[in-house]
Amino acid sequence: MQLAPSIYTADFRKLGEQVSAAAHGGADWMHLDVMDGSFVPNITFGAVVCRAVHEASDLPCEAHLMVQDPDRFFEDYQQAGMQRLIVHAEACPHLYRSLQRIRALGMQTGVALNPLTPLAAIEEAAPYLDLLLIMTVEPGFGGQAFIPGSLDRIRRARALLNARGSQAAIEVDGGINTQTIQAVRAAGADIAVVGAAVYSLQFTPATGLAVLRQALLGSA
Ligand code: ZN
Repeated sequence: MQLAPSIYTADFRKLGEQVSAAAHGGADWMHLDVMDGSFVPNITFGAVVCRAVHEASDLPCEAHLMVQDPDRFFEDYQQAGMQRLIVHAEACPHLYRSLQRIRALGMQTGVALNPLTPLAAIEEAAPYLDLLLIMTVEPGFGGQAFIPGSLDRIRRARALLNARGSQAAIEVDGGINTQTIQAVRAAGADIAVVGAAVYSLQFTPATGLAVLRQALLGSA
């Protein structure tokens, strides 16, 4: 299973160090939670910070755009070095066009679904998806508890993608830690976004990642 640390909970006073620490600790992706204060209540950062994170290590970067009408910014994130853009189905009325534009800019496509958005929202989009992001908490706030019904949702998402002949990866975001990571992998998730389980004042990112890998081994 791939691990994608979210810098949302990192120490922004030393962002570059925090990113390279995750890279040295064996992270697979950097996950950038972009919030606009409209689609979600909080504001985080935009393409300028994404570029800084991209330049801080060799890890591929994905921007999770919790933003209304994200199409306005696709070029900015491409120029910031993002390899994948994840948009919310709830924020993109013209999803086909959005996904085509992301691919035309040379990036992988991802679509995120809020916890109670029906999976059917991405059924028709399956052929255009490189990744489906299942929100396992409500987006826009850090440190929330994993929503238990998410496991069944991951299984149903995998079945839906299989039925459509889609090879899209399934990523989970929210409340992933040593208690939940085995279960989400068993349910069919390929990539886990990890926040407070990696970026914490109590341990280093390398230790956080190692403990998560250990938890995964325990379930093998
Ligand atoms: Zn995210």
